Amino acid sequence: ALTIGIVGLPNVGKSTLFNALTRNQVLAANYPFATIEPNVGVVNLPDPRLAQLAEIFGSQRLLPAVVSFVDIAGIVKGASEGEGLGNQFLANIREAEAIAQVIRVFDDPDVIHVDGKVNPRSDMETINTELILADLQTIEKAIPRLEKDIRARKREQAELDAIKAAQAVLERGDTIFSSIASDKLDLDKLRELSLLTAKPFIYVFNADEAILGSEEKQAELREMVAPADCIFLDAKLEADLVELSEEEAREMLEMNGQEESGLDQLARVGFHTLGLQTYLTAGPKEARAWTIRQGDTAPQAAGVIHTDFQRGFIKAEVVSFNDLMDAGSMAEAKSRGKVRIEGKEYVMVDGDVVEFRFNV
Ligand code: GDP
Repeated sequence: ALTIGIVGLPNVGKSTLFNALTRNQVLAANYPFATIEPNVGVVNLPDPRLAQLAEIFGSQRLLPAVVSFVDIAGIVKGASEGEGLGNQFLANIREAEAIAQVIRVFDDPDVIHVDGKVNPRSDMETINTELILADLQTIEKAIPRLEKDIRARKREQAELDAIKAAQAVLERGDTIFSSIASDKLDLDKLRELSLLTAKPFIYVFNADEAILGSEEKQAELREMVAPADCIFLDAKLEADLVELSEEEAREMLEMNGQEESGLDQLARVGFHTLGLQTYLTAGPKEARAWTIRQGDTAPQAAGVIHTDFQRGFIKAEVVSFNDLMDAGSMAEAKSRGKVRIEGKEYVMVDGDVVEFRFNV
């Protein structure tokens, strides 16, 4: 499954945030048959289009796409030295598709900071340094093997060049992900090394009112992590929000001057960082968003519903969400020529409303 691994120093609010993720009951209600691992938290991807679709189709329930998070505990300063990062830690983080790093920016004299004071830049560097050192070890082990293969003409010099370019980035203390564009790194040639810092990063600033209320302070932190994306939330507030009804939660957010909960933001940014998109299906039973990768074709999209749909794919009836809304009904969209018949080569677009035709 597509999961985002949550990492961070001790005492930054990881467990608090993770509790909010796992107690988010919406999912359990919507997907009663899904098995959810205890260390996995799931959030709905907010999608206002579903309610609008449900109105047109008279759908009884709404099923949004979801984003999963896995708790990856166990990273502290010096973790990559000696025995190296724990095997369990490495296994968990290698499986994650992206990394969300929680950074403490809340002030609270009652909560001890591992380094004695709140310093987001140094926290970020501490975690990233451990991941960078782990990647450097991976590269140092891989290079002699690769050199041997190049001498035997089994591999290309270009592969070694790509890995050396990555090594130089890591040696100057940067992550691969933040240097892809600036250093023109060739990710395809690095893929087999499964480098930790080549995964997409998101930064989650666990903040207090002083920061949630200040565009200026947020801009500073945003700049600190660029080109990675970041979000700002209050983990304690998030843990409280999931205990409330939808209406109460909205009121509480309004009182805090926020339009959207941190978990919703996290889902949106995570979804984007993972390179995902959704297409929609609707009928009297449900209006549903399905998760696919950007660039997926119509048969691949059908396969997300059922593998038989992909195998037996014939064609897809597609209307873009906006065209459907302008028309106000499927029948009207058809008479306006907005409903297209697409074949196997069709590349899906976010917000396509689809009905598949297939052989079984
Ligand atoms: P972890 O070690 O990163 O998992 O951190 P925890 O989630 O256990 O949080 C450490 C302490 O900080 C706990 O006492 C939390 O109640 C507290 N804490 C977590 N998030 C916040 C926050 O947003 N604001 C404040 N004031 N305290 C927080």
